[in-house]
Amino acid sequence: MDIGPYSFEEFLERATAFHGNPAPGLVIGGYMVEVAKSRLSEGTIFDAVVETPKCLPDAVQLLTPCSAGNGWMKVINWGLYALTLYDKYTGKGVRVWLDPARLEAWPEIRAWYLKLKPAKEQDKDRLLEEMRRAGESVFGVRPVRVKIERLKKKSMGTIGICPICKEGYPSKDGRVCRKCQGESLYMEMES
Ligand SMILES: [Zn+2]
Repeated sequence: MDIGPYSFEEFLERATAFHGNPAPGLVIGGYMVEVAKSRLSEGTIFDAVVETPKCLPDAVQLLTPCSAGNGWMKVINWGLYALTLYDKYTGKGVRVWLDPARLEAWPEIRAWYLKLKPAKEQDKDRLLEEMRRAGESVFGVRPVRVKIERLKKKSMGTIGICPICKEGYPSKDGRVCRKCQGESLYMEMES
């Protein structure tokens, strides 16, 4: 089955170029995005919510104008393989998820999704082939209304200059920036 404007093979190439490898999660995510898109009425200006940070956000970024950087896609980490596309103004949209109850006929997809075997025992070719053949048949689809107020971007507020590192930072974080408050990710290195 095609994935939006792409044949399955073309999508694997696009996925590899964008994501580094044709990750199964990105491939099945491609189908999920297209199912959600197909259920919105023509011309809907939509935003996206993705309920896992793994793979699925890249499917949205490949197939829609929504990205983490432009703010039209929100990623929440519920660990659920699900996404919603919804009308930016009304919140009306469609949630699509990978449904374990629909995986009886697809043992490789089921084993991958439920982590029933170690990654190195996975037969990736068979897994992708099952995904190609299963297409949309393995998804739950439900109309939803998103609480858009909850997803509104919070303003950074005013920007100050951190007295320690001299970088700009949100003043509401305190007297110095979060990096200088001891949350640093970085080890000291000799310059
Ligand atoms: Zn600082």
